[in-house]
Amino acid sequence: MARSTDDVVGRTLGRIGPRLIVRGGFLAYFVFISVRLLQFRAWALGTGDFVPRPEAVAGLLPIGSYMSFFLWLKTGFFDPVLPAGIVIILGALATSFIFKRGFCGWICPVGTVWEVSAWLGRKVLGRDNFRPPRWLDLGLRGVRYVIAAGFMIWLAAVSVQEAMWFQQLPYYATVDAKMLLLFGAPLYLAVIALAFVGMMLFGNVWCRYLCPLGGVYGACGVASACTVVRDPEACIDCGKCAKVCHAAVPVDTLKSVRAPECDGCQDCVRVCPAEGALTSRVFGRFRFRWWIWPLGVVVLWLAIFGIALATGHWHTQLSIEAFAQFMRIPGL
Ligand code: SF4
Ligand code: SF4
Repeated sequence: MARSTDDVVGRTLGRIGPRLIVRGGFLAYFVFISVRLLQFRAWALGTGDFVPRPEAVAGLLPIGSYMSFFLWLKTGFFDPVLPAGIVIILGALATSFIFKRGFCGWICPVGTVWEVSAWLGRKVLGRDNFRPPRWLDLGLRGVRYVIAAGFMIWLAAVSVQEAMWFQQLPYYATVDAKMLLLFGAPLYLAVIALAFVGMMLFGNVWCRYLCPLGGVYGACGVASACTVVRDPEACIDCGKCAKVCHAAVPVDTLKSVRAPECDGCQDCVRVCPAEGALTSRVFGRFRFRWWIWPLGVVVLWLAIFGIALATGHWHTQLSIEAFAQFMRIPGL
């Protein structure tokens, strides 16, 4: 009975496209809160009706949030202005240590947009995205870890006084809205359009070579509790798993996927035709159905969000009036 339920859930999700459901859901939520933030800003400037300010927009400012995160680690002081930023970081790190780069693979709205561009490129071109030769790919991937390490060292080195001073700036409380408006400016739209076309041709270059956060989560994901495991005895060497892997992991030659590029998308497990050859496992031992992976990512996020909400670590302590006042400062 349990097995048939597994099969029904797996087949239904597989048909609709699990990534479309989960990633699409998070992207839709991101668009929703972005619109709400702009509506809140319009209210603050006296040009619209009141709309509550969404807390999750703190994720728009990862540099500021990481600065607050390190401040919290050093002093125990939890950012009262944009606390949701630290909660989102904790969610992404927890996901990485349990479900590899699950944040990148199932949640990040930026990655979703670039994945769509790469997918569209494959459809339009009728072929795989162009990939650089292996030596260049390895070198470029290294760049991301250098950028990630540089960012983390720099942010961790910010002194307690400087980080606390930064948190008190009106700029810190309003930069999320400013960034959204910036992305809508003609120059930025042109850059985004150019990047979109580039990724249609060359695949998701941003997530693979450039995103510093992806580098951090990929490095954490090496120690992930859950992995994709290949059984060489059951494998029929068809190579389908490696071919379908958007992260270019040579799954068909590995015993266990430890690669930091793996975001746990589960495409390789789903495509494998040989029963038991490729499975998702906890600690390399306990096998589970592929759809438990995205379900686990979502449940983990909701659990972290719920704990933050219940313990008073999600909502800002700054008053709505203070946010509105900051937004009315000329130049902010
Ligand atoms: S296809 Fe497999 S190896 Fe590649 S990213 Fe997805 S889960 Fe990881
Ligand atoms: S798809 Fe399955 S059977 Fe084919 S190479 Fe990969 S693990 Fe082996």
